[in-house]
Amino acid sequence: MKAPYTCYCCEGIGNTNEHAPPKSIYPKQKYLPEGSPDYRKNLITVPSCKKHNNDKSGDDEYLLALFTLSIPESKIAEPMMKKWIEAFKRNDSLAKRIFSLYRKITILTQKNNLLIPEKTFAITAEKERINNAIKSTVRALYYHESKYKNKWLNDFTVTSPNFLNQNLFIDVQRQEIYRDFFQAFANPNIIKKGPHHDIFFYQMLEEGLEGACVMKLVFYKHLVFFALLV
Ligand SMILES: [Zn+2]
Repeated sequence: MKAPYTCYCCEGIGNTNEHAPPKSIYPKQKYLPEGSPDYRKNLITVPSCKKHNNDKSGDDEYLLALFTLSIPESKIAEPMMKKWIEAFKRNDSLAKRIFSLYRKITILTQKNNLLIPEKTFAITAEKERINNAIKSTVRALYYHESKYKNKWLNDFTVTSPNFLNQNLFIDVQRQEIYRDFFQAFANPNIIKKGPHHDIFFYQMLEEGLEGACVMKLVFYKHLVFFALLV
């Protein structure tokens, strides 16, 4: 009998399956218009210990709610919104928590010494939950990519042009970094991976440094995160 693989996040036995990204971000077929694909088929899973599988369910729930609120114009968001509004009605505390920290804001972007207003989202609290959920997904995908040979156990940075963390200004330097990232990932040789690209895909950019790479994660076509594994 084959020895079980270890957890994607620690050296414990990986006797459960962890979805990467969380299964909940793939809408159930019953919430979609007739004839929609079954987005819950062929999802990526990695071995996980019980602790690292259970630990993050609160973060995943928060991530999904935030995403759902962030994509009101998407065709996929629409049926998911219905589901989530129902869920919010049932779970008053979750609704209050999420709506209390979510607001649409206008930020000022600096371009050629001009401050240009841009609509975006502000997260004023619990950004650690998003960080944790995204980081777990990145670690799991990294393990999956290596066919369960390599794990990324060190800490790393996650950054997103869609969600602001620190303050209401996007500084010029950060914008340049994002522009470079987007350009690098526009290379058609860097293939998009994942079972259902309109829900989620990821790309890996190996930089030639020892073990260093950048991972791009795209949820619902336009919610982007970059993970810097250095
Ligand atoms: Zn573990």
